[in-house]
Amino acid sequence: MVALNEIPRRRYTAGATPLEHLRRLSAELGGPQIWIKRDDRLGLTQGGNKTRKLEYLIADALNQGADTLITVGGVQSNHCRLTLSAARAEGLDCHLIVEEDLGPDGTALGPAGANPPEHTGNFLLFDLLGADSVTVLGHGADLLGEAEILAEKLRGEGRIPYIIPVGGSNPIGALGYVDCAHELLDQFAEEGVDSPTIVTPSGSAGMQAGLIVGLHSAGSTVPIIGINVSRSQAEQEPKIVDLVDSTARFLDLPHVPRDATTGLGDYVGIGYALPTPEMAEAVRLFARAEGILLDPVYTGKAAAGLIDLIRSGRFPSEDTVVFVHSGGVPGLYARTQAFT
Ligand SMILES: *Cc1c(COP(=O)(O)O)cnc(C)c1O
Repeated sequence: MVALNEIPRRRYTAGATPLEHLRRLSAELGGPQIWIKRDDRLGLTQGGNKTRKLEYLIADALNQGADTLITVGGVQSNHCRLTLSAARAEGLDCHLIVEEDLGPDGTALGPAGANPPEHTGNFLLFDLLGADSVTVLGHGADLLGEAEILAEKLRGEGRIPYIIPVGGSNPIGALGYVDCAHELLDQFAEEGVDSPTIVTPSGSAGMQAGLIVGLHSAGSTVPIIGINVSRSQAEQEPKIVDLVDSTARFLDLPHVPRDATTGLGDYVGIGYALPTPEMAEAVRLFARAEGILLDPVYTGKAAAGLIDLIRSGRFPSEDTVVFVHSGGVPGLYARTQAFT
């Protein structure tokens, strides 16, 4: 087994993020005790789960002598915002290649540039943080292919580019959540959180896979339920399994059992980033009960899933659930129409 603390890492957050007991929300829902892991309070611009992944990814980039980061995502990508923020903190160049969201009916909007993104939310921050370039392509474009072409061009100019995949989800990025699993286990012991179930959004799956590997490597049997934001259960679970396996291999850990991976596909709605009424209800409920803002694309849909699981009796009142707040709040301002 490779010791996590021997792998190069940058630090973008001072200390652990809070684990908070949501007493008012728990009472309002009348089900299990709900706790929340405040990864919306991680470091870099406006925080969120990509900060943990980037601590390992940027260390790897710097070790390879990179002077330029290239990454990809949606027009409202939290991952692009945080990669750019890390680049600013490290004095690196940063290029973003993003794809338009799906149209309101779940179909692609057509050729690139047909619907220029509104200058709001994360897209506004790409500008304020001074991205060296932002290329907007139509939905479904080959973003990584474009990233390779740009990298080749930059190499020709004597630069040393480092490409970070969608969501920072590869075995190096997932290490951020292997570490988070250990942080959580310490906090469960300190706070007396007994036999919890972790509920987390599942997108490019790096967060969930890292948590699964981290818990497993510590001998914990705490279960994790992923709530998908873009795929059906049948599409998402193989992705989680692949990343769990490759991350475990990277750390030279024993194989993690297949049944540790769950990604529920019932709360996606029409498609990725498209609002659902249940998401809007969940965002309002967390805000009014606890003063905590969720985001419309990830944590809002995951919370809608959690609320539905509670209402349908999945968690009896003796149970404890730990919800991972993975950030994303700037995206709220790009989806205000979902709340009118
Ligand atoms: C990227 C993201 C997720 C999903 O994490 P993955 O590792 O991609 O599954 C969840 N919440 C927010 C706010 C994100 O930006």
